[in-house]
Amino acid sequence: MKVKGLKILLIENDELNIKFVKIVLDRLGHRSDIAINGQVGLDLYKKNKYDLVLMDLEMPEMNGIDSAVEIREYEKKNNLNPVKIIAVTAYAMDTDRQSCFNAGMNDFLAKPFLVEELVELINKHFSEDNELISNLMINKN
Ligand SMILES: [Mg+2]
Repeated sequence: MKVKGLKILLIENDELNIKFVKIVLDRLGHRSDIAINGQVGLDLYKKNKYDLVLMDLEMPEMNGIDSAVEIREYEKKNNLNPVKIIAVTAYAMDTDRQSCFNAGMNDFLAKPFLVEELVELINKHFSEDNELISNLMINKN
């Protein structure tokens, strides 16, 4: 099942990446807001409800790791369900992956990536609910 209609927060400072990801998300049928660094992202996150955060790592003002840590602290303080956070970064070493998970992020996508890779990741994290629903429907019949 194709996952559509997610509200996504893209936290990224590179203009070309922003344009590319925004076009991809639009075409996939998702709505997205853009934040140009981790601080702007954190502020937007506090004001709105998102299903998914796509997080660049290297950004001015506040980087992706710090932004993710702040988001998780904010969620804990306010008893919010943790939003899915996927790191999107050119830093694809195992240690980079580990620091993303340590910061509370859920997954990792290495730049440059294919549209299909992003689709697969989104499906991986958001099709479970759909499966649950279809299982319930099957059980009812
Ligand atoms: Mg960057």
